[in-house]
Amino acid sequence: MRLPPFQFLEPTNVEEALSMMNARKETLKIMAGGTDLLNRMRFRLIEPAFVMNIGKLRDVDGIDIGENETVIGTNTKLKDIARSPLINNKFRAIAEAAFEAASPAVTNMATIGGNILQDTRCLYYNQSGMVLNGLERCHKRGGTICLAVKGGKRCFSVCQSDMAPALIAFDAKCVLQKKGSTRTVALTELFTGNGVTPFAIGADELLTKIIIPQPKNGVGSAYRKLRLRGSVDYPLASAAAFVSVTKDGEVNACRVVLGSAGASPRVIDGRSCETHLESIAQKAYDSAEGIDNLQMPGAYRRKMAGVLAKRAIKAAMDRLKEGM
Ligand SMILES: Cc1cc2nc3c(=O)[nH]c(=O)nc-3n(C[C@H](O)[C@H](O)[C@H](O)COP(=O)(O)OP(=O)(O)OC[C@H]3O[C@@H](n4cnc5c(N)ncnc54)[C@H](O)[C@@H]3O)c2cc1C
Repeated sequence: MRLPPFQFLEPTNVEEALSMMNARKETLKIMAGGTDLLNRMRFRLIEPAFVMNIGKLRDVDGIDIGENETVIGTNTKLKDIARSPLINNKFRAIAEAAFEAASPAVTNMATIGGNILQDTRCLYYNQSGMVLNGLERCHKRGGTICLAVKGGKRCFSVCQSDMAPALIAFDAKCVLQKKGSTRTVALTELFTGNGVTPFAIGADELLTKIIIPQPKNGVGSAYRKLRLRGSVDYPLASAAAFVSVTKDGEVNACRVVLGSAGASPRVIDGRSCETHLESIAQKAYDSAEGIDNLQMPGAYRRKMAGVLAKRAIKAAMDRLKEGM
């Protein structure tokens, strides 16, 4: 499938990129690895006048592990995160999510920023023009109906990012820059929960860094995912768990973040886990939307949200005991 026509821009530093974005606003789309953007363009879901490749911005690439926080540049490839010994050692769920995302062909190109900001997906939306032309326009295509939920007054498309739940489990923040200003927000604030406009980011804003605070004392984490083929597919349900203990070994945080459960990752916070596994699983089930708009039935995906939450917590607890 051919791409629609567009003008290609290639800044060499962040300042230049911000000026280009400031001048072109909504008519410009950022391309990092291009694995999400170009597919949407081929399907004619979007037809931007300008595509700006940020692949040459070396100042926002790489992992910097400091004493109090770890900074990951937006252009860092998922394969580098999956392979990083330091990320594997300190932030196991994040390394697992990167390793489990897509396939090596994709993770060699896909960046962490692009993974977080990939568009929400739905079987009734991510189709070629040939299929879509035969369907009534849904909310995500500017219409007023939902093809997945009869009578649905809103869009139920799903955030299928593997990285977002794992990063949120570690309370990650992100840095957004535009010409003349910079803001740092919790990663959770980047998600609107609205499938039509899933991200609270301006057309002139560039995501430059992800910041992960260094957890205090002992921590265990894990990421568990359901997908059709283990070698390549998007998550149909997923759960990232983060468990931390005080100096005396008492659990003081047990956080589960669900992926593929709706238009944004869903956070379930608790203070204890081993004794409350069933209640966390129930909360995960209640929180997941489980709509019939991905490859597996919604009811099954919803049940699996609870199962994966339990599996992730158990794995995180085991790692905590092993001192990882
Ligand atoms: C076959 C296949 C299987 C896949 N399986 C999975 C999977 O299992 N799990 C999973 O999580 N994902 C999966 N994906 C999606 C893939 O991981 C994403 O497409 C990829 O991570 C996006 O990163 P990218 O660098 O290619 O982003 P791009 O496609 O370049 O960009 C994605 C979006 O983010 C915006 N963007 C990118 N960088 C920035 C920035 N710095 N600031 C502001 N906006 C920005 C772009 O404008 C665009 O809208 C799969 C994709 C394919 C093709």
